[in-house]
Amino acid sequence: MNLNKKICIITGSAQGIGYAIAKRFVADGAKVAIADLRLDAANETAAALTKMGPGEAIGVEMNVTNEAAVNAGVQQVVDHWGGVDVLVSNAGIQIVHELQDFPFDQWKKLLSIHLDGAFLTSKACLPHMYKAGSGAIIMMGSVHSKEASPLKSAYVTAKHGLLGLARVIAKEGAAHGVRANVICPGFVKTPLVEKQIPEQAAELGISEQEVINKIMLGGTVDQEFTTVEDVAEVAHLFAAFPTNALTGQSMVVSHGWFME
Ligand code: NAD
Repeated sequence: MNLNKKICIITGSAQGIGYAIAKRFVADGAKVAIADLRLDAANETAAALTKMGPGEAIGVEMNVTNEAAVNAGVQQVVDHWGGVDVLVSNAGIQIVHELQDFPFDQWKKLLSIHLDGAFLTSKACLPHMYKAGSGAIIMMGSVHSKEASPLKSAYVTAKHGLLGLARVIAKEGAAHGVRANVICPGFVKTPLVEKQIPEQAAELGISEQEVINKIMLGGTVDQEFTTVEDVAEVAHLFAAFPTNALTGQSMVVSHGWFME
């Protein structure tokens, strides 16, 4: 089970979870496109990964909410390496407000990055996978694909939506050898989560330590954060699984915060 020479696009991979997935894939010999809003950061990440090898990486500028930008970015990868074997739709943001105060434009922004992003990147990659007769699409869900938390109406809605999208792709893609699955991590200490700690403390009127101990890790079996490497390992499993048996699934990696 390996990704040697597999052509992979990972959105939002200039940093955080996406970066760790890219690192894991390149360590396994994959060719990885670091597709991110920030081209400079994507190029920097790609250069560092290529240096590590044995695979290689390129930076690709992509705003996942923009259809023309997504199509151009995917085409750039196809022109460079000749196809797309794996898509990890990972780009995402967090915005927290109580529902009654949630600004509509912020709601739409969050849904667009998570849901339009997953839709547009999948739509752009599928023709290339169908042509090859194989492919793997991985959506970055969350424990919030299965569980709700206060203040996170847009995020919980978007992450639940990704389960549905992946299941449809699994059914439509089966005839073409394309699989689709969702990873559902618990809290991982990335810039996205670091930003939430003071925000949630202010919204809920509690200390930052209480946000970590009670809100973020209170439900885990061992009060541990999930790591980017944990998530990358699950991404590798979904990407490299050798048969089409593993499709339409979601896997929770959260130190037991959510069990099913
Ligand atoms: P992060 O903020 O560290 O990284 C997100 C990356 O996405 C950045 O490089 C950013 O430039 C990029 N990005 C943002 N908007 C974009 C857009 N419109 N187009 C292209 N790229 C864009 O975040 P992270 O914590 O690594 O999160 C990655 C994914 O994992 C997200 O979907 C997030 O919801 C999910 N997730 C995170 C956690 C966690 O605890 N960190 C838990 C579960 C799920």
